[in-house]
Amino acid sequence: MLTLQQHLQQTFKLQGFRPGQERVINALLAGRSALAVFPTGGGKSLCYQLPALMLDGVTLVVSPLIALMKDQVDQLHRLGIAAARLDSSVDAEQLQSIYRGLEDGSIKLLYVAPERLANERFLARLKRLSISMMAVDEAHCVSEWGHNFRPDYLKLAQLAKELEVGRVLALTATATPQVAQQICDSFAIAPADHVQTGFFRPNLALSVRPYNVEERGRALLEALQARPSEPAIVYVTLQKTATQVAALLSEQGLNAQAYHAGLKGEERHRVQEAFMSGQVNIVVATIAFGMGIDKADIRGIYHYNLPKSLENYMQEIGRAGRDGEPSQCVLLASSDDLTVLENFSYGDTPDSEALAGLIGWLVNQPAQFDLAVHELSGQFDVRPLVINTLLTYLELDGIIRSTAPFYTEYKLAFQISQAEVLAQFDHERADFLRQVFAAGKEGRIWLTLKPIAVADQLQVDRVRILKAIGYLEQQGMVEVRVAGVRQGYRMVNRPADPQALTAQIAEQFRVREQRDIQRLQQVCNWAQSSDCYQRGLVGYFGEQLPQPCGQCSACKGEHQRFPERHRTAPDSAVILAVIAQRHGALATPRQLARFLCGISSPRASRARLARHPSFGSQMEVPFAEVLATCRAMLEP
Ligand code: ADP
Repeated sequence: MLTLQQHLQQTFKLQGFRPGQERVINALLAGRSALAVFPTGGGKSLCYQLPALMLDGVTLVVSPLIALMKDQVDQLHRLGIAAARLDSSVDAEQLQSIYRGLEDGSIKLLYVAPERLANERFLARLKRLSISMMAVDEAHCVSEWGHNFRPDYLKLAQLAKELEVGRVLALTATATPQVAQQICDSFAIAPADHVQTGFFRPNLALSVRPYNVEERGRALLEALQARPSEPAIVYVTLQKTATQVAALLSEQGLNAQAYHAGLKGEERHRVQEAFMSGQVNIVVATIAFGMGIDKADIRGIYHYNLPKSLENYMQEIGRAGRDGEPSQCVLLASSDDLTVLENFSYGDTPDSEALAGLIGWLVNQPAQFDLAVHELSGQFDVRPLVINTLLTYLELDGIIRSTAPFYTEYKLAFQISQAEVLAQFDHERADFLRQVFAAGKEGRIWLTLKPIAVADQLQVDRVRILKAIGYLEQQGMVEVRVAGVRQGYRMVNRPADPQALTAQIAEQFRVREQRDIQRLQQVCNWAQSSDCYQRGLVGYFGEQLPQPCGQCSACKGEHQRFPERHRTAPDSAVILAVIAQRHGALATPRQLARFLCGISSPRASRARLARHPSFGSQMEVPFAEVLATCRAMLEP
């Protein structure tokens, strides 16, 4: 058994600990849960990777970032540490070998995406393992006060209990004091085990330069031309801006590429690799780029648009200068950006009609029921994230309780003949399997089984069928594919007054929207202030900087006032023309307003409305004004 120091030096080939690491690791080794708030690049991963090797059992690492998981697992393999990841790219054969490794104890770290934890078969297998620790990466997603709330994260605390994990390590780079408190409450972390290192990054020179929208492209170009060969990321809000700005820079001879979630996977991968290897030195990107980018020599982060929150800003500039060398972080701020950003927050709030419809549907469900989020999303024209948030609210209010997700359909591909499979079992089991196989629909390769229907037909428990399939898969006799995920729920406390509940939930969404708007306002206040930018930024995260940093644009006395925000009025002619087309997906005022402000919805994207020439045409007009105009026109 190696000691802590020996692991550090021999296994990880590191000389010493970075600030905070040892304290976190000692808490975990003593059996306590902990929260590590270190800046990006501060060395959070070591805090669970090292103890994982010293504890009995497996460490489960929950991370929402697939690219990051891959990098980390590759890196661990290079150090000779047995780690694995489960994401959608893992095929059946790899899955089997991972399960074997977990069961025989040879895999010490397993990385999983949070969605995976809603898989009943996976959870059943996890329950059989001894899980020494659960590491929750990006733990701020637990908090509704955070900028990146993920409903599935709220359930992690419950899951940690169900799986009887020995201890939890929550990790994040951006937690305001409020968010940290919520994380500690969720995972029962004692105040003494909340370990926070400084947010202040002395090698980053921050500058905020207000510009009009028209001047901004030129300003960016000039800034980049002054350092044409240095690696830099330019952040923008919209995908189309990423494309436009990358084109502008390339035309001027800079080596720039666009990156956003609208590009194909291969293209994104190509751009990322080219940036990592230095073939491309400027990436113009939406927030989709950068999570898990571990490039040490990024010399500049340019914000072409305002970030949505100071948490986002901190995370984005945190990618600069990881090697400790001086780096530039330039915010080309325009208050005109606020409208587009605010509109996105408003657009996320569901219609009162849709909300009433959804709740009406829910209260009429039987004591046990199930649903598919994408179905409800299409039916009520509400984005899946919003449905998931609503369901989580109802769960937290004690109205419903999720039982288990399940698949409606299993497809089996036999690796040996059915007769050979049956020959491996005793009479009773073989008979059962024969009946199950016979109840399926036989294709050329796949046998399709619908467990609910089969259970009904054979008068057996569905779980027995699933267990049998799981066993066959584990033994490598069949390859299994699943489809049609549905989430099972139990009605715990049927609401007596659906209307009151609708009003209460609507209020929760309104508060959420208000918080988003407040976060934006905080960005503005910070950018417009003439105090040291570093001090203002770390102050937001609860840290005091004793002295001004001396190198930001405010400290250098370059503070400039912001130009007033442009006020654009709704264009009635455009709106009337859209109404005249009577599109089914644009029936309510809010649907119409969202479309005009360039905010997609399930129905609008199914109708391919994003390609409509008027989609986003009123993006620069405040959402509330567009909505009011739509109301006046639709409900005269
Ligand atoms: P974070 O998750 O906090 O953003 P990482 O865990 O990815 O940061 O670590 C960032 C980099 O720092 C990695 O390249 C890692 O190998 C390195 N690192 C971590 N701990 C130490 C240490 N104690 N000494 C030297 N380098 C370290």
